[in-house]
Amino acid sequence: MKAILIDKDDDAYRAEVSDVDEGDLPEGDVTVRVAYSTLNYKDSLAITGASPVVRKFPMVPGIDLAGTVESSDHPGCKPGDTVVLNGWGVGEVHWGGLAQKARLKGDWLIPLPAAFTPRQAMAIGTAGYTAMLCVLALEDHGVTPDQGEVLVTGAAGGVGSVAVAVLAKLGYTVIASTGRAAEEDYLKGLGAAGIIDRAELSEKGRPLGKERWAGAVDAVGSHTLANACATTKYGGTVAACGLAQGFDLPATVMPFILRGVTLAGVDSVYCPRPRRLRAWERLAADLDPAVIERMMHEITLAEAIPAAADQLAGKVRGRVVVDVNR
Ligand code: NDP
Repeated sequence: MKAILIDKDDDAYRAEVSDVDEGDLPEGDVTVRVAYSTLNYKDSLAITGASPVVRKFPMVPGIDLAGTVESSDHPGCKPGDTVVLNGWGVGEVHWGGLAQKARLKGDWLIPLPAAFTPRQAMAIGTAGYTAMLCVLALEDHGVTPDQGEVLVTGAAGGVGSVAVAVLAKLGYTVIASTGRAAEEDYLKGLGAAGIIDRAELSEKGRPLGKERWAGAVDAVGSHTLANACATTKYGGTVAACGLAQGFDLPATVMPFILRGVTLAGVDSVYCPRPRRLRAWERLAADLDPAVIERMMHEITLAEAIPAAADQLAGKVRGRVVVDVNR
């Protein structure tokens, strides 16, 4: 089988498409024939070695996969089932989806929602499922479309694109923050009502600013997240999931203690199964498959390696699907 294999010796860090013996697959109770995987920000960190995402070598990256069960000793999966995997440390400590086969724990797998093909499920991937977890966080904290504008940061990226599309479909007035003015038509096509230059949010700001947002989905962190909190309206919620600008949070407590703003943390990797299933059900209901096509492009396994550097450089729009059999 072919796989991207990451290895490290002394100071050299390598990622290349390799022939891997299936007997070398890690332990697990389900073997999956992978149809598609994808390139998330974390996969790009793993492939390039830009951050210590990979904690065991050699490693097959790929935190997501969609495919068909080939063999199973797990009561919940049988051969022929189509399944999706997101996270659980796969692609970090357990061989992942950027390969023609994967051996996994059946407990990690969820059935492919009937609304999606494996390719569409990977166009959503962890980025899209995380965007939906952020939307659920806003809903759970009572943010409703009638309360006014909601902010999405890192909007032209994967999490951002899905968040914009889902929130717009749900009737929210979405303001998309992007550093790429050229993506205005793309973002409006996904449903954004307006665009702001990310530079308005990315510099050090004041502890409190003019109240603007009913809620926010932040994929960026650092000053951007601090400024999103400082400009969220009384009682609003900011869902924080990312660190594309930085993992620091140079903020004050003022938005929380004077405006009752909620900062809701969102993790996709170890998110409990019932909430994952809910997120995927909601994606099936609230993300238009035609919109998925507009936000994705497809590449081969070998192309995923150079694409990783492009993603970290902020050059990739929307979602990247990887056909692991090409
Ligand atoms: P992408 O690379 O697709 O998108 C990131 C976007 O962030 C870019 O497209 C860009 O948007 C913006 N951005 C990049 N660099 C900067 C910068 N220096 N300052 C401000 N904005 C910047 O990544 P994903 O959408 O897949 O992931 C986004 C973030 O969410 C990542 O940090 C990722 O690690 C995190 N994440 C977290 C998860 C979790 O479980 N908590 C799960 C999935 C992702 P634009 O060009 O529009 O400005």
